[in-house]
Amino acid sequence: MQPAVKARMTENFTALQDINWMRLDWRRELRNNITTVDMLKTYLPLGGREEAELRLVTDIHPMNIPRYYLSLVDPDDPQDPIRRMCVPDAAELVVAGSMGETTADPYGDDKHNKGNGLLHKYSYTALVVTSEYCAMYCRHCFRKRMVGLSNELTVKNFHNAAAYIADHPEITNAILSGGDPFMLPTRVLEEMLAALADIPHLNHVRIGSRVPVSYPLRLFDDDLMALLRDFGERKTLFVPTHFNHAREITPVAREAVYRLRRCGITVNNQAVLLRGVNDTVEALMDLMNGLLRIGVNPYYLYQCMPVARVRHHFQVPLKEGVDIVDRARRYFDGYAKRFKYIIGHDIGKLEICGRIGDKIILKQLHARSGNEDDVSRLMVRTLTDTSGWLDDLPETNL
Ligand code: SF4
Repeated sequence: MQPAVKARMTENFTALQDINWMRLDWRRELRNNITTVDMLKTYLPLGGREEAELRLVTDIHPMNIPRYYLSLVDPDDPQDPIRRMCVPDAAELVVAGSMGETTADPYGDDKHNKGNGLLHKYSYTALVVTSEYCAMYCRHCFRKRMVGLSNELTVKNFHNAAAYIADHPEITNAILSGGDPFMLPTRVLEEMLAALADIPHLNHVRIGSRVPVSYPLRLFDDDLMALLRDFGERKTLFVPTHFNHAREITPVAREAVYRLRRCGITVNNQAVLLRGVNDTVEALMDLMNGLLRIGVNPYYLYQCMPVARVRHHFQVPLKEGVDIVDRARRYFDGYAKRFKYIIGHDIGKLEICGRIGDKIILKQLHARSGNEDDVSRLMVRTLTDTSGWLDDLPETNL
């Protein structure tokens, strides 16, 4: 690389460190997102081969990196965990690979799609896919088949979705999901929340968002905070978010979380165990303890799903995952170890309880509508060194 090009790149990247993210207009700043390989290479060094491969990858799965999140990357480390989550990788061209088969929809969303963006997977929960847009397109996303792409899965008429929920008294809670609901204009979110506020059988509402991690500046919008505070006085509001690494817990993210908490919102974290990101005892300890320090509850640690163009390079084998999690738990206080290590499967949610030798013990926490008898059943399966998903595990006995 020519010295002048290298110097400009260093200058561009260094300038990011001086920006006061809390003062930026979140809508205007989105226009500065890095969405092309040409933009990316003005900040980070790319090899010639890497550049060509990234162009192929981004034709399939678009790139979208906020400058804020890019500023967290270590530009000198090609294996940097933050970089792995935001910068496309040639490994995304591999559909299957060493970890076994993949699928576009491992969580069975499409089977439970009631149309108009509404997924009714558990009798008591309605999930509304509110948008296909996110501030950042995470490279490990399990909804990679739709995020950033035009699709038929998102809600078209929220009032019809709310009417479905109102007509089903067994639904106790609604999740606004996506994509990222916080990337909707505040007035659109206001209409959605208003439609849910008067449904008497809803105990609580969740807004699933990675904005506290990838684009915390959105949460410095006072109109949004006022909306959330007002709604919180009518229904209990939770924000499940998705920190995966302690370096994502920046002063800006912490302040964004505090702003949510000041609105009376409980923030829970749903991390994913990812190869090269948080697959060590130390990384998990730093993550869970760091979350507690800013008042975010460690809630789930998901086993990475067998998603096409994700599994091959991000999934950690279950045997290794159990051992990492169990070793980390030795050092956690009671609140840090409250999270559950989870398989979010087509049949429902399964807690990974642990292993005895080459046998893994699972407990089903949630089952799809009509299969409620399966809830709380224990399952014993045989582990190999490479098995990464329930379907890889033959049934066995203790
Ligand atoms: S923010 Fe969530 S839905 Fe959006 S790309 Fe990241 S993981 Fe996927």
